[in-house]
Amino acid sequence: MKRVAILGSTGSVGRSTLAVVDAFRDELTVVGLAAGGNIDLLAEQVIKYRPAVVSVRELRDADRLRSLVSVPIDIVHGAEGACAVASLRDADVVIAGIVGAAGIPPVYAALKAGKRVGIANKEVLVAAGDVITRTARENGGEILPVDSEHNAVHQALRCGDHVEIQRIILTASGGPFLKRDLATFGDITVEAALAHPTWKMGNKISIDSATMMNKGLEVIEAHHLFDMPCDRIDILIHPQSIVHSMVEYVDGSIMAQLSTTDMKFPIQYALLYPQRVTAPFARLDLTKIRTLDFQTVDAQRFPAVKLAYEACRAGGSMPAVLNAANEVAVERFLAGELSFMSIVDIVSRVIEKHARQVTAITSIDDALHWDGWARNEARGTVVAMTR
Ligand code: MG
Repeated sequence: MKRVAILGSTGSVGRSTLAVVDAFRDELTVVGLAAGGNIDLLAEQVIKYRPAVVSVRELRDADRLRSLVSVPIDIVHGAEGACAVASLRDADVVIAGIVGAAGIPPVYAALKAGKRVGIANKEVLVAAGDVITRTARENGGEILPVDSEHNAVHQALRCGDHVEIQRIILTASGGPFLKRDLATFGDITVEAALAHPTWKMGNKISIDSATMMNKGLEVIEAHHLFDMPCDRIDILIHPQSIVHSMVEYVDGSIMAQLSTTDMKFPIQYALLYPQRVTAPFARLDLTKIRTLDFQTVDAQRFPAVKLAYEACRAGGSMPAVLNAANEVAVERFLAGELSFMSIVDIVSRVIEKHARQVTAITSIDDALHWDGWARNEARGTVVAMTR
């Protein structure tokens, strides 16, 4: 029996993780949950799964949760609370489904405690990849990617050695604006940007998919996870989202992983690895898929991708700055304060400002420092642009 703690249990990845737990009642049990704003759903989860410890964002959320559930549980709160759930002595696996850089401290805590962490929260690796992978190595922690592309790469890498890899090929759906007339990009609404053609996800990642910043962040994520320079990580647009990514080996063989667009697949893999267990989820029917298309990324349509490669090459604090500026810009776009095209514009300006002060990230505090710096800069840039 594997004991699971979930960070971000009421979000999209958290709910999928609980669906996987439901499907594998003999293999998996929930021991800890951490969630943000949705206390009603969290209360339902607590009553159903009876975790020993639950973390909420603020003290008043803890009071509210206590009033909704009568079962005896330990309720903690804030960043410390999330870290407590992440490093629970009873937990074997932690699924990190928190959105954004807020996931850094709990993921670090989990790896420091030697846990296996299924990371869906790519921003953690983007902003603090060196520290996170080093912490895992030094403390016997283990990182398994839940991001579907990286999960596919992890599976494809079981076919060869690291020295035999030619390149990693991340696939991208291209998002909702793959074919939209470039002249109309100025009119893109929040609603249109949230309407992803193949995946149903949270708001932040849906916007990142529309700008393709998501794929840029995934290049940086893959760089850290698989110890591969970004110039050997390519992106191919694959609108069907059936091939989740590929690894090309030096002999010319390409290994790909295919499945339906359902996060339960990578989550199940991360929870049960290295075992493969019969899954009850809908399977891919290749006879119903007539074509698999692949094309290169149009740099003019998706300028975010180039920015992310530049940030990855610059290394050090730059990816943390890219990530934080993007989080602020996406937040402001979702709030209706910013146009779609301004998102990448803001990120680009903040990055430019940081170019001459790039420094190494050697601790979580370094990552959080530059994250905070970039957020301030981005907020200032938003104010200056919308004035
Ligand atoms: Mg992904």
